[in-house]
Amino acid sequence: MPNKIRIAPTPSGYLHLGNILSFALTAALAERVDARILLRIDDMDRQRANSAYVQDIFDTLNFLEIPWHEGPRTLQEFESEWSQIHRMPLYQQALEQLLQTEQVFACNCSRSQIRSLSIDESYPGTCSHEAVPLDGSEVNWRITTPRYSEIQIQLWPQGNQSAKLPALMQYFVVRKKDGFPAYQLSSLVDDVHFGITHIVRGVDLLPSTLAQVYLAQILRADSFTQVQFYHHGLLMGADQQKLSKSAGATSIRYLREQGYKPEQIYQQIANLTGIDELVTNWRQLAEVVFHKRI
Ligand SMILES: [Zn+2]
Repeated sequence: MPNKIRIAPTPSGYLHLGNILSFALTAALAERVDARILLRIDDMDRQRANSAYVQDIFDTLNFLEIPWHEGPRTLQEFESEWSQIHRMPLYQQALEQLLQTEQVFACNCSRSQIRSLSIDESYPGTCSHEAVPLDGSEVNWRITTPRYSEIQIQLWPQGNQSAKLPALMQYFVVRKKDGFPAYQLSSLVDDVHFGITHIVRGVDLLPSTLAQVYLAQILRADSFTQVQFYHHGLLMGADQQKLSKSAGATSIRYLREQGYKPEQIYQQIANLTGIDELVTNWRQLAEVVFHKRI
C-alpha cells in the first residue's frame, strides 16, 4: 500500500497560523515518506460548519502553496462529493459494529451533572450501570474504556510507544446527542476508508490518538493500529494561550488582507516557535522544526 497522509481542517473558523504549522509539517512529512496528500474537510459538526470557512481552506492552501493530491478543489466539489455527510453509512456501520461488542451504553448526563460529579470534568461512568435506552433522544453513546491497560501507538520517528488512556478520555463519546458520529469515530472511520498511513497533529490531540487507536482495536481496523503519528508542539499566542479560531489577528485571511506575503507568514510562524533562521516557505519551516524537535 502506498503511503498517504491527510490535511484535515474543520470549517468552523478561518484558518490561523497554528493550522498552517501543522499543514506545513504534513506536507514536509509527505515528502520524506513519499506519501500522497489527501485534503479532508471535517464538517461533521453541523452546528458550526460554514461554507465561507470551507472556501477559506481552499484560498489559504492555494495562497500559501501547500499542495494536495486528492480531495476537493472547490466548494462545489466538496459539497457534491467529499462532505462527511456522504460517508454517514460508513459511520453508521461502525456504530452498529460497536453495539455488537456490548461496550457501548447511552448516557443522558448533562455537562453540569458531569462537572458536579468529578473534579477534572472526566466522566465517572455513571450511566454504564443505568441501562438508559440507546434509541432515546438526547443521549450520547459512550464506550467502556480500559482504565489500567496500556495502548500501543506508533510515533514518528520514535516507533512503538505505549500509554494509558487519560482520565478525560475515559468513556469517550462515539455518537453525539444530535445523532451524528463523534469526532473520534468519524475521524478514525475516514482514515481507514482513505487508507491513511501517517497523521500529523498537535500534541494536544495525543489523547485523541490513544482513543482512536483503542477504537480501531475494537473495530478490528488493524490498518489504523499501524498508522504513524507525528505530534508537534503548539503555537502559543502572545498571552501564552493556544491559538484558536476566534483569534482573528492570527487568521491567514486577515493577514492576507493586510498585505502579508506567504514568506512573511511562514517567517511569523517560525518566530512564534522560537526559530531565528530565515524561513520563506513551508518546506524550510518544516525542516527547521523537524531538526529542532519542536
Ligand atoms: Zn451519563
